[in-house]
Amino acid sequence: MSAPDDRAVRPGASRTPVRAAVLTQPGTVLVEDLLLDDWLAPDEVRVRVAACGLCHSDLHMVDGELPTAVPTVPGHEIAGIVEEVGTAVADLAVGDRVVACLSVYCGRCPECAAGRTHLCERRNDLGRAGRPAPRLVRPADGAPVDQVAGLGGLVERTVLHRNAVVRVPHAIGADRAALLGCAVLTGVGSVVNAARVHPSETVAVIGCGGVGLNVIQGAVLAGARRVVAVDLGPDKLALAGRFGATDLVDATTDDPVEAVVRLTGGVDHAFDVVGRGATVTQAVGMLRPGRTAYVVGIPPVGEVLPLAGLPLVAQAKGVRGVLMGANHFPRDIPLLADLHLHLQGRLELDALVTRRIGLDATADGFDLMRAGEPGRVVVTFEDDGSPLDVR
Ligand SMILES: [Zn+2]
Ligand SMILES: [Zn+2]
Repeated sequence: MSAPDDRAVRPGASRTPVRAAVLTQPGTVLVEDLLLDDWLAPDEVRVRVAACGLCHSDLHMVDGELPTAVPTVPGHEIAGIVEEVGTAVADLAVGDRVVACLSVYCGRCPECAAGRTHLCERRNDLGRAGRPAPRLVRPADGAPVDQVAGLGGLVERTVLHRNAVVRVPHAIGADRAALLGCAVLTGVGSVVNAARVHPSETVAVIGCGGVGLNVIQGAVLAGARRVVAVDLGPDKLALAGRFGATDLVDATTDDPVEAVVRLTGGVDHAFDVVGRGATVTQAVGMLRPGRTAYVVGIPPVGEVLPLAGLPLVAQAKGVRGVLMGANHFPRDIPLLADLHLHLQGRLELDALVTRRIGLDATADGFDLMRAGEPGRVVVTFEDDGSPLDVR
């Protein structure tokens, strides 16, 4: 293994052409030809992206509800193949299939030392900020193009910090593996790591998109006796039933709080996967006394949660934000892969992917999400013979 100083490639000296979906201004996603720096820092890996799921936080950024610097490459639900490893990376090899996660961690700060790597205090120091060269630049003028959260997966190849990826078996298709990095990790983790749902308890889930469906199947895995799914319209609720919801509440025709209380007498755990003040209030309202509501969906900047104080205290209810399923992803993602592949298929991944699209159709993919696509839209780069829905 050569020391970094001996490497032929210097920072920014040589660059590989890549195509990427770039958020150029709020509301505009364009596919561009960019250049990726060939130099790797010692703790980085270069990954050929095979699939990248479109998450609702990506959509919030595209729509300007989560402010982000532009131009930037969105996408954080990545599966790919390791093409090269930095000189300090000893535990990943060329050819490994990896899944990336937003919860990149330093491993040394007080939160990491306490086992809460999803709350790492030094996360923002692990990107390319302060490094010798930007990872992605425009060919015409060399202007840097950012990558959301240091991931930015809607690109053919990317460079990632070693602690942003974990190896998974090749047997999982790339489009399904990608979802382990956010939707599945966040949904199942919120149930298992944060709420610690016990067998025979009751659960309500408000919002049954990619993350919500995984809260539902997490609750089923945990042995919940009753899992009530709440959403708008029959398509998402039908999918929720397929993932194990025992009761379906259509909030376009039923009051969610009344319906959940009528069905269960109040639930032990309520998960808000929408992240709006109105739905958090509903989640608290449908709890039994002494129980906790979990805010799993990312609220837009400035969103305020209007909670009535007296009943909160009089009924001793809790409200807790849960970030990324309170994960330790190097432990959790391989376990989730195992649940899917080997353990009686107890984790459903196939039905989560409702659309596969090509990179050129990324903007159409966000349109599909705005139109209420029931499952995940996944951009795939790897031609495995499966037909794409939109090219
Ligand atoms: Zn996400
Ligand atoms: Zn840390």
